[in-house]
Amino acid sequence: MRILLVEDDDMIGQAVQEALESNAYAVDWVQDGARALDAISEVPYDCALLDLGLPKVDGIKVLEYWRSQKIKTPVIILTARDELPDRVLGLDKGADDYIVKPFEMQELLARLRAVTRRLLGDNADSIMTYGCLSLNPLKHEVYIKTGRGNMEIELTAREFALLETLMMRPGAVFSRDALEQRIYSWNDEIESNAVEYIIYSLRRKIGASFIKNVRGVGWKVNKIDDPTLVSSDGGAKD
Ligand code: CA
Repeated sequence: MRILLVEDDDMIGQAVQEALESNAYAVDWVQDGARALDAISEVPYDCALLDLGLPKVDGIKVLEYWRSQKIKTPVIILTARDELPDRVLGLDKGADDYIVKPFEMQELLARLRAVTRRLLGDNADSIMTYGCLSLNPLKHEVYIKTGRGNMEIELTAREFALLETLMMRPGAVFSRDALEQRIYSWNDEIESNAVEYIIYSLRRKIGASFIKNVRGVGWKVNKIDDPTLVSSDGGAKD
């Protein structure tokens, strides 16, 4: 998932960016309100984390502008102002949640997951399951159901992020551009065949049949319902 972080404080911004990146999020960080106004329309962000006290344009004004532009990206307000009126104003202006500084990173991560899951209309639990494939965003675990029981698959952060993107809309086809936008941030140097390479290594680990290439369009996660079709030594049988 890709996150827009709007925070002018260096220390907080850096800490949040590091925490998110180590949890396989791609993060774009801007440090003033003016840059935040348009940044959000450049990329399909999964969530924006918005400080209220910002240089140039105040966070509430930024939020107002985004919503006036019909930008529906979920927004979590990061506020040092613990006065009730600011929080209420933020929620009234269309924020989805808020968190008061100083906060624990674990709490921010939990709220981020809650907001992005709510968007998917699935609030029962955080585990995504599609046929024999399961992904737990909270624990960063991927399981495949085989004829001999569940098997955990070890993935890199990028492989996990890519699979999570596909699993968020199971069966939908994602183009290379769409996948790049979800798993890389501005600062990342992207090799031209980076997505293909991640797909390749992902398919080797979970089994080629779980990810289907739609020629000329992109990739989607493929539903395999019968665990006996999944080999017990890593991935689906072809
Ligand atoms: Ca601030």
